[in-house]
Amino acid sequence: MSTKRPAMNGCLQATRRISEAQEHDLPLWQRLTLRLHLAICTDCRNFQKNSEALRRIMQHYAEHDDAGFLADSPETPQDGRPE
Ligand SMILES: [Zn+2]
Repeated sequence: MSTKRPAMNGCLQATRRISEAQEHDLPLWQRLTLRLHLAICTDCRNFQKNSEALRRIMQHYAEHDDAGFLADSPETPQDGRPE
């Protein structure tokens, strides 16, 4: 059986490396094989795009996670002075 689609196993490895690459730098050969896979695999390119976007969102929350955000309640008291 011959197919031009990249093997599932390759995708599994590629997605794992994409995640790893966000945590730390990959060894050169891993970066090269990942890049090769991304060149032929649209699914993994999409995965990479999505996980980078997701990471940016998570980072944004991590950086802006102050108490004010959590303390924000729908019933905010105004001055505490009733009319
Ligand atoms: Zn793939």
